[in-house]
Amino acid sequence: MKLGRIRSKIISLIMILLFLGACLAGARKIKTEESKADASFFAMSTYVSLTAYGKTGDQAVLGAQEKVEELEKLWSTTDKESEIFALNHSNGEPVDVSSETGDLLRFALKMAQETEGALEPTIYPVLLSWGFTTGENRVPQEEELKLLLQNVGYDRVFMEGNRVTLPDGMQLDFGAVGKGYTGDVLVELFKEKGVKSAVLDLGGNIQVIGTKPDGQNWRVGLRNPYGEGYLGVLEVCDLAIVTSGNYERYFVGEDGKTYGHIIDPADGYPAESGLASVTVLAKEGKLCDALSTALFVMGPDGAVSYWRQHRDFDMILITGEGEICMTEGIRDHFSLNNGYDDWEVSFIE
Ligand code: ADP
Ligand code: MG
Repeated sequence: MKLGRIRSKIISLIMILLFLGACLAGARKIKTEESKADASFFAMSTYVSLTAYGKTGDQAVLGAQEKVEELEKLWSTTDKESEIFALNHSNGEPVDVSSETGDLLRFALKMAQETEGALEPTIYPVLLSWGFTTGENRVPQEEELKLLLQNVGYDRVFMEGNRVTLPDGMQLDFGAVGKGYTGDVLVELFKEKGVKSAVLDLGGNIQVIGTKPDGQNWRVGLRNPYGEGYLGVLEVCDLAIVTSGNYERYFVGEDGKTYGHIIDPADGYPAESGLASVTVLAKEGKLCDALSTALFVMGPDGAVSYWRQHRDFDMILITGEGEICMTEGIRDHFSLNNGYDDWEVSFIE
C-alpha cells in the first residue's frame, strides 16, 4: 500500500471517530437537557428557582412549586386567610394551627431561646413601624420603639400541641426562618420523588441535593455584601447555605443613614453589629436560616462564641472591615474568585 493511501485512510478514520465522538457528546447533552426540570417564580417575597435532574424532576418541581405556594398561604403576614394573620389578630385567644405552622413555630421559639432572643419571632410590631413590610419606610422615634418592644418576647408565646396563644398586641413573623424551613420541606419532597440531584434557590437560600449529575460538587457563589458579584465559590454537596445581610433589604433615611431589615430585638433598631453578612452552612435549611439572622444580630464576637458552643454548623462572617472569617471545616471547600485575591481570609477554630 502506498504511503499516500495509508495517510488518507488514517485521516478518514480520524474523521469518522471525530464525527462519532461529536454525535455521542451531542446525544449525552440532549439526554441531560431532557432530564433537567426547572421552574422560577415569585413567592415568599422573593424569587424562587428550582432545578432537578433525573426522570422524576418535572413531577418534583411541579409538586414543589405547589408546596411553596401552600406554605406561603399559611405564613403570609398580610394575607387575611393565613394562619399567621389569624394568630396576629387573635386578641389573645387560642388558635389551632396546621402541623407545619406548629412545627415551624416550635422551632423558631427553640432557636429564640438558644440564641437568647437574637432571633425573635415576635419582632413584627417593630418591623411594621419601620415600614419594612409596606415599603413606606420611616425612622421611628426611640420612645415609639420602646413602647412597641413591650409587645415583643418569644417567651410569652404559649403552645399546647398545635394550639397557639399569642398575648393580645403581640405579632409573629416567620421572615427569618420560613424560607429555610420551606427548603427542608422541598428537599424531602424531591427525595420522596426519587430526585438525587437538585438545586433549590429561595431568594439566596441555597439547598443542594446530592452532587451535580456528573458527580462533581455543586459550586455555590458567596455574595459580595459590598457590591455586585461573588467573592468566592463554595464547593459542596447535600447542604444548605443561607446568607443574611443588610445589603439587599434596606432603605436610606432622610438623615442619609442606611437602615437594614434585620432588627436587634434589644433596642428595636436595625442590627449594626460590625458584620456585613453571615453565611451559615448545615444540612438543615431551617437551622441555617435561623442562625444566619441571629448571628448577624450577635455580631462577630457573639457569633464566634455561639459557634464554639455548638459546632453543628459552619459559617462565614464578612465583617464591616471587609475581612472574611470562616470556620475551619470549610477551608478546603472555599476559594476566592479572581479579582478578590487580596481579601483577607482567616479561620475560626
Ligand atoms: P432574608 O429574608 O433576606 O433571607 P433573614 O433570613 O435574615 O433575611 O430574615 C430577615 C427577616 O426576618 C426580616 O425581613 C424580618 O421579617 C425578620 N426579622 C428581622 N429581624 C429579626 C430578628 N431579630 N429575629 C427574627 N426575625 C427578624
Ligand atoms: Mg434567616
